[in-house]
Amino acid sequence: MVKASMVCYLKLLLLLALGGVTMHVPDADVLAPLGPGALRLHGHLSFHDVATVARDFGNRCSLLPAAVLHPGSVSDIAAAVQRVFQLGERSPLTVAARGHGHSLLGQSQTAGGIVVKMESLGGKARMQVHNGDGAATPYVDAPGGELWINVLHETLKHGLAPRSWTDYLHLTVGGTLSNAGVSGQAFRHGPQISNVNQLEIVTGRGDVVTCSPEENSDLFYGALGGLGQFGIITRARIALQPAPKMVRWIRVLYSDFTSFTEDQEALISAEKTFDYIEGFVTINRTGILNNWRTSFKPQDPVQASHFQSDGRVLYCLEMTKNFNDDEADIMEQEVGALLSRLRYIQSTLFHTDVTYLEFLDRVHSSELKLRAQGLWEVPHPWLNLLIPRSTIHKFASQVFGKILKDSNNGPILLYPVNRAKWDNRTSVVIPDEEIFYLVGFLSSAPSLSGHGSVEHAVNLNNKIIDFCEKANVGMKQYLAPYTTQQQWKAHFGARWETFERRKHMYDPLAILAPGQRIFPKASLPMSL
Ligand code: FAD
Repeated sequence: MVKASMVCYLKLLLLLALGGVTMHVPDADVLAPLGPGALRLHGHLSFHDVATVARDFGNRCSLLPAAVLHPGSVSDIAAAVQRVFQLGERSPLTVAARGHGHSLLGQSQTAGGIVVKMESLGGKARMQVHNGDGAATPYVDAPGGELWINVLHETLKHGLAPRSWTDYLHLTVGGTLSNAGVSGQAFRHGPQISNVNQLEIVTGRGDVVTCSPEENSDLFYGALGGLGQFGIITRARIALQPAPKMVRWIRVLYSDFTSFTEDQEALISAEKTFDYIEGFVTINRTGILNNWRTSFKPQDPVQASHFQSDGRVLYCLEMTKNFNDDEADIMEQEVGALLSRLRYIQSTLFHTDVTYLEFLDRVHSSELKLRAQGLWEVPHPWLNLLIPRSTIHKFASQVFGKILKDSNNGPILLYPVNRAKWDNRTSVVIPDEEIFYLVGFLSSAPSLSGHGSVEHAVNLNNKIIDFCEKANVGMKQYLAPYTTQQQWKAHFGARWETFERRKHMYDPLAILAPGQRIFPKASLPMSL
């Protein structure tokens, strides 16, 4: 059976070679330890579907694994990792957990190793919602491979929901917790990694460990934002809060960057404020307000119809206020009071009321439209930066309108968060200032050449990075696509020592998440 699969697999390799996919051909000796009887599994190991996991959302990197593990249980994952660990440093096999494969440059892939399809585990293990008795905070125990949209559906059945989100919910729990998970609620609740009470992890030795701030805390904090380096998250205990029914979703425009950022900062620092605060930049776009009209209502339709966006750099402040049906009047008053303190262009006030679910799942509607036009599965040369408050003006004045002459390649997010809501014991690296901005250049590259090409977007990204370095902006990359250990050391700075120590402790043979390109297998100094 396995022999036949391998023949199939080698044939497939040949086909893929002709198709031009970047790949790695493992020899039979490497695969032998995965043969019949080597692993007792509730799920299964497959060889015929390796091409399906040799890609990601970034669409710029393709590494062919030797096998795909479809785990039927946590012990399947532990058995596979343990087997690879037992093979020792001479075996080239590595293990990559794959959430929904929404990485940008091969981070959830492995050349010639084993990809663990975490979603298979999600389907089999059930989510458990705990309502919280009396003073206890409610939580959900979710499998690491579960999509956040499913976590939302399940918790809503109990009138509850997680507190902190990403903009897009078709990402997995383990995948976003390995990065940070940032969205417009982070100013108040911190990123998703600040809202986890406990994790279950399969380490790089194949041990299954439960960890929390009280128990095995070094592994707990290491894994949060840990880029999959210390273990595979098989379960996460996520804090919940009562879910509102409805959301007032508001957009306004600014032409002055200083007023825009001062208003954003005042809002994220206030006690009584909106529930979600983000922002984005548009450069030289035609008819922005007309585009909004498909989903939002203008406060003043006549004034709004006279507004011209062409040729300008504009800043959109986006906010929401949660409410239940019987609280609509109070919500109107609170929103009115908050808006009255802001300095946006009055004619650009738009709003709509949607359900909480519709709001949180908003990017999925765009996904469906883009898929229908064949524009979802194109390369995505994204650049995500964390910029300290003290240099955001210097950054904006050089980038918006100068390095970037338009924003036609995709949205440019820009919003501040409070550092106090991030836990500095986790692995994520952030700027060292009380307020810092997330700036995301979410480019799509549908063309092979010219303005819409990968080359063009990467060239602009490099200009932005070069500027940040030369002007000492103090920027840190989020979802960083570094390819050398030297780059990673510079990224981690003084925190590199802890990161390397944890790697040595929990994944000493550097088996896990090789696609992050931080530790080549068995490259760790043994004397740590
Ligand atoms: P994958 O891409 O499959 O994996 C990511 C990394 O984590 C890999 O190294 C993988 O090996 C590792 N990994 C996966 N599962 C586990 C696990 N269970 N245990 C340990 N390691 C694991 N991020 C934000 O913070 N905020 C946003 O608003 C946001 N919006 C996005 C919108 C879109 C359309 C997309 C495509 C991405 C967005 N992201 C956002 C980025 C997102 O956080 C990353 O793509 C992340 O990688 C999650 O994707 P995934 O679950 O598919 O994980």
